[in-house]
Amino acid sequence: MKISLPKHQKVTASHLKRQAYCYVRQSTLKQVFENTESTKRQYALRERAISLGWPIVQIVTVDSDLGETATSVADREGFRKLMTEVSLGRVGLVMGLEVSRLARNNADWARLLEICAITDTLILDEEGIYDPTDFNDRLLLNMKGTFSEVELHVLRSRLRGGALSKARRGEFKTRLPTGFVYDHNDKVIIDPDKQVQQSFRLFFDIFQRTGAAFATVKAFRKDDVKFPLRIHCGPNKGSLQWQTLTYSRTQTILRNPRYAGAYYYGRQRSRKNVDGSTTYFCVPQDEWIVSLKDAHPGYITWDQYEKNLCRIRENAIAYNNIDRKTPPREGQSLLQGLVVCGKCGQRMTIRYKYQCKGRVEPAYLCQRNRIEKGENSCQYIPGAGVDEAISKLLIESVTPLTLEVALEVQRELETRFNEADKLRKQQVERAEYDANLARRRFMQVDPDNRLVADTLEAEWNEKLRDLQKATDYYEKHRRLDSEKPQKEQKTQILNLARDFPKLWKNPKTPAREKKRMIRFLIEDVTMIKAEEITLAVRFKGGATKTLKIPLPPKGWQHAQTDPEVIKLIDDLLNNHNYSEIATIFNERGYKSGTGMPFDRKNVKGVTHSNHLKTRYARLRSTGKLTAEEVAKLLGVTIQTVRLWGKKGIIKTYPYNDRNGRLYEHPGVNSPLRKKRKKAL
Ligand SMILES: [Zn+2]
Repeated sequence: MKISLPKHQKVTASHLKRQAYCYVRQSTLKQVFENTESTKRQYALRERAISLGWPIVQIVTVDSDLGETATSVADREGFRKLMTEVSLGRVGLVMGLEVSRLARNNADWARLLEICAITDTLILDEEGIYDPTDFNDRLLLNMKGTFSEVELHVLRSRLRGGALSKARRGEFKTRLPTGFVYDHNDKVIIDPDKQVQQSFRLFFDIFQRTGAAFATVKAFRKDDVKFPLRIHCGPNKGSLQWQTLTYSRTQTILRNPRYAGAYYYGRQRSRKNVDGSTTYFCVPQDEWIVSLKDAHPGYITWDQYEKNLCRIRENAIAYNNIDRKTPPREGQSLLQGLVVCGKCGQRMTIRYKYQCKGRVEPAYLCQRNRIEKGENSCQYIPGAGVDEAISKLLIESVTPLTLEVALEVQRELETRFNEADKLRKQQVERAEYDANLARRRFMQVDPDNRLVADTLEAEWNEKLRDLQKATDYYEKHRRLDSEKPQKEQKTQILNLARDFPKLWKNPKTPAREKKRMIRFLIEDVTMIKAEEITLAVRFKGGATKTLKIPLPPKGWQHAQTDPEVIKLIDDLLNNHNYSEIATIFNERGYKSGTGMPFDRKNVKGVTHSNHLKTRYARLRSTGKLTAEEVAKLLGVTIQTVRLWGKKGIIKTYPYNDRNGRLYEHPGVNSPLRKKRKKAL
């Protein structure tokens, strides 16, 4: 069995060669200011290390966590640094006031102990020095860690218990929303500021009248009425600020039961995430820990509060129903979630607009300001041509060739990086050599020659500091270096490029997959609408490309007929009427502006809307006569003229489908004359 060595015998030359880390921590900023005593104690530990034989230059104080309260390593830069240094075997001694509280949870502590044991690092606190490789010492340290965690737990539950029992009586002071203040007896009262009171009364009145949060925002905006906000922190704590009422603020106020005079506690819960951060979320009303109605005066009654909530919910459902008519996530717009407004920088949302004949078209809408502040929406961009332009751009830009070039450049950079790395490494080696030289000089000097020894010692220290600096610099650049893409990734990228156009053009590739691919390639797309639509595409990796596409035709322009067709109609009208033209077109396979086959009506429509000369006008201009005119000319009845027309005695020209006809001028060979000649 190994016998525990006396304190000083635990420290060996190998320990002394390495650094001693003194870890100083204070949880809150307040502690940093007020609890200077313990900071002093922590700094006193340095003296212990010096007395154990560590040179003062080798003692590093880690105090970057002063003022951090995180209970896990994740947010504590200083502790992380300590762990790294220990695991690299650069540390001979770790010091802390109560070492078990170095780490604030047992898992972190156990890990630190484990690493200390592997790297043969000693641990020191006010009560003694421990060697984690020694079983008894490690047991003790583990116990200390456990107790520390227990202590923390007990402390927390005691505090929480106290808070809870106070909260159950409605006496636990929580932060009041704007519109309420505590009086000198800590009772909640309505803000004595008359303007604040009036603002809130007006707010609830308007909501009751309009029944919608958005309408309330708009009403405030229309009359340019500002809304109060009491600042909760910072140098202006407690003062009032008058701001524009926003939609999110409206929602917060309507949902806060305090405005109905109710006291609540535990409306929000928190959940720890894997990365050490915390997420807060609201729980339903029946899960609140405390909820006391009529605890203090309010602006509205509880009934009114519940009605308001109901109203918000109904509005949300109504809104969703409208929304659901458009495909929510499966929509085919490729740029979903990637579009940024070129005018204000906000993300743009997508609307799917149903055009005639079941055609769905995306449109991009910047409406954050509209929702939040009741202003007009910033931009509305019809997106018909956008997806096509982006697809074309991708197929053009994502080719194996372009990617090969990009990767080549990367390789080039890497080689240069390696060269730089070599140079930096040499710098470290030189510093190491200098430090060794200085040490040897110091060792060789006669101890009695104090003056020389002191100078040499100072020189040695300086060299050691230089070495440290060089090493840090080197390590830092190495780390940056290691973040570059690996070889496998490169092959994957190249493969994607090779298959890309094939995959993209395949009609079986679902829009969802295309969207996923786009997210690999494009960072975002900024859109501005002017005479044309400008798309600034930012690729992943920094390359940019600007596209310009014409504005898609407006609704009425959609139904416009091809100019070629119009010209053809113009030609055909010389010899044909509307239905004949329609038949000719359908035989030749032409389609109208709305994509339908031609008929008499739309040929007529095109003729009129394009101001073409009608068939009738054309015939008239070549001197064709109406039946009445012929009758008058020949001195016969209209019926006779028509009969002659039918029998072919006079040549006729139909100008419509209802048997409307014009007649050839009888001239010298008029049928009447022929008749008369016969009679003679
Ligand atoms: Zn905008």
